[in-house]
Amino acid sequence: MAKILVLPGDGIGPEVVAEAKKILLWVQKQEGLDLEFEEDLVGGAAYDASGVPLTEQTLSLARDADAVLLGAVGGPKWEPLDYAVRPERALLRLRKELELFANLRPARVYGALVEASTLKREVIEGIDIMVVRELTGGIYFGEPRGVTGTGEARKGVNTMVYTATEIERICRLAFEIAKGRRKKLTSIDKANVLEVTELWRDVVTGIAADYPQVELNHMYVDNCAMQLVRNPKQFDVVVTGNLFGDILSDEAAMLTGSIGMLPSASLAASKKGMYEPVHGSAPDIAGRGVANPLATILSAALMLDLTLGYSDAARRIELAVENALAKGLRTADLTGGQGPASTTSEAGDQVLKELQTLYQ
Ligand code: NAD
Repeated sequence: MAKILVLPGDGIGPEVVAEAKKILLWVQKQEGLDLEFEEDLVGGAAYDASGVPLTEQTLSLARDADAVLLGAVGGPKWEPLDYAVRPERALLRLRKELELFANLRPARVYGALVEASTLKREVIEGIDIMVVRELTGGIYFGEPRGVTGTGEARKGVNTMVYTATEIERICRLAFEIAKGRRKKLTSIDKANVLEVTELWRDVVTGIAADYPQVELNHMYVDNCAMQLVRNPKQFDVVVTGNLFGDILSDEAAMLTGSIGMLPSASLAASKKGMYEPVHGSAPDIAGRGVANPLATILSAALMLDLTLGYSDAARRIELAVENALAKGLRTADLTGGQGPASTTSEAGDQVLKELQTLYQ
């Protein structure tokens, strides 16, 4: 029995999670999957109910679960709050407590949405990139850090630090992912300037021998930023540290045109994972039933694939999304202001209909 903790969160979170759950429940019934769902509050909703964005009880449910499916947290209502109880703190705590060291972000351009990208069709048509970012180390956590001194003597410091063990852990995962895809891995560093990434390059090169079927390339981060917009089709799996990954995963994501389409996974060594759309709680459209649920539906598919081991069901959901888009499914964020748009629940129903066809 696999346990899934559903945390819808704030803003459009509950609206998009409801559609993902609709799909999951149908697949569960159809395939007889042994899944158990629990649901709880997180973020601003949890703060309103209990004064903290993540209660110990919710954290304990997350620890017990095999996977967490999360909507989004935050919104203007909670912005004046103390930093320690801001909704976003819940995500940081979950990542830390569940030891989610790897962030995976697929960036895929669907044929039907090629025109939604700001780049030319011939540059982006068919791109399918997986960015694997180290999430718990590097310059975001390194010590010493902080601002010291006064006046003109003020000094700000952050430290970029990685151990060989941390590098090996994330890179082995990236090699494994590449093995199941087009077998190309590009490791991103700045080894010409930063010693910490010289070590990174050394470690990746060392373990490449264990994955002879995967072709490994190294690329400097500045070149990668350029290549992602010049010729993104050259990339299959990209692996990098926390800081470079933060920037490059956003850049890769934007190749696809709409934030409403982008799923993500954060994984622990045990393969336990937290799955969530890349977008936030979109307070500007919350409660109107117009949000695009596809990023969350695709996150649920990633969950079935990477944590729960139901790869076939995951592929079917992804194909159902692709087919629904090809048949004209467009939520308001995808129409460019032209033509009729599906509501959030209509979009979920359209994907479900395509899924049912695939199972016939
Ligand atoms: P956002 O992603 O919520 O919204 C940016 C823009 O994209 C908005 O115009 C929004 O309407 C649109 N958008 C986002 N998701 C969409 C969807 N599924 N369908 C259609 N349109 C969509 O980012 P923001 O406005 O910078 O942040 C809003 C709140 O969300 C803030 O409180 C922020 O802290 C929080 N946030 C949370 C997460 C998370 O929970 N992981 C991530 C980013 C931001």
